[in-house]
Amino acid sequence: MKVFISCDIEGVSGVVDAALHTSPEGRDYGRARELMTGEANAVVEGAVKAGATEIVVNDAHGPMTNLLIEKLHPAATLITGSPKPLSMMEGIDSSFDAAVFVGYHSRMGTPGVLSHTISGGRVANVWINDILVGETGINAGLAGHFGVPVVLVCGDDVVAQEAKELLPHVHTAVVKHAITRNSAKCLPPDKARALLEQATIEALKGLDKAKVWLPPSPVTFKIQFKDAGQAEYAARMPYAEMVDPTTVSFTAEDYVAAFKGMRALIGLAG
Ligand SMILES: [Zn+2]
Repeated sequence: MKVFISCDIEGVSGVVDAALHTSPEGRDYGRARELMTGEANAVVEGAVKAGATEIVVNDAHGPMTNLLIEKLHPAATLITGSPKPLSMMEGIDSSFDAAVFVGYHSRMGTPGVLSHTISGGRVANVWINDILVGETGINAGLAGHFGVPVVLVCGDDVVAQEAKELLPHVHTAVVKHAITRNSAKCLPPDKARALLEQATIEALKGLDKAKVWLPPSPVTFKIQFKDAGQAEYAARMPYAEMVDPTTVSFTAEDYVAAFKGMRALIGLAG
């Protein structure tokens, strides 16, 4: 059994503040990346106990150089750095049996901890074929393109709810409860890690009930930007269409091509 792990940081227990925790300049960034590595390792340990023979962890936050390889579980390999063609899902292919999302956060506009969708400064909303999605949905579609089901999503209670709405079969592990976008009631690291390990074992044992999520082709990504100027810059892309003054869409036959178009639109908007 091969398991792919995409690891973000905003959903890790103890992480609540962008300036302090999730930016490499932050005062507590060093602590946050230790906590992130600890949660990734707990999922790796659960995967080993469930029978995984190969485990790949992809660093999926910001510069994508957050996870501490010197502290990585020896059963895993690490994909680190950016840019990567599939970004938060780099390394996924059809040889994997399951994907797990660790440290994930809810979509922009929800009351989850550090909620955003890809770019907090640019993106208000993203739809795939008119389904409002966050990073969980966007990345579940990439896994789905390769025939891989997402079996477990870990983070706060709000991202767990978002995951369940899109992927009814999915297991969730809630390591913190959001109070506001910048505060939460958090499990201590040892408890969070025990929960993640157990949830991974249960999710992988139930793999036969997991379902692949892939929107039908053609795939349209629609991005509502935070202001009209960003949308105007994005709409310079060939084959992009202006939907309204702040919203631009891009359609492709294939999910990966549509995903890359969406990433390019967000890049151009900056
Ligand atoms: Zn992140």
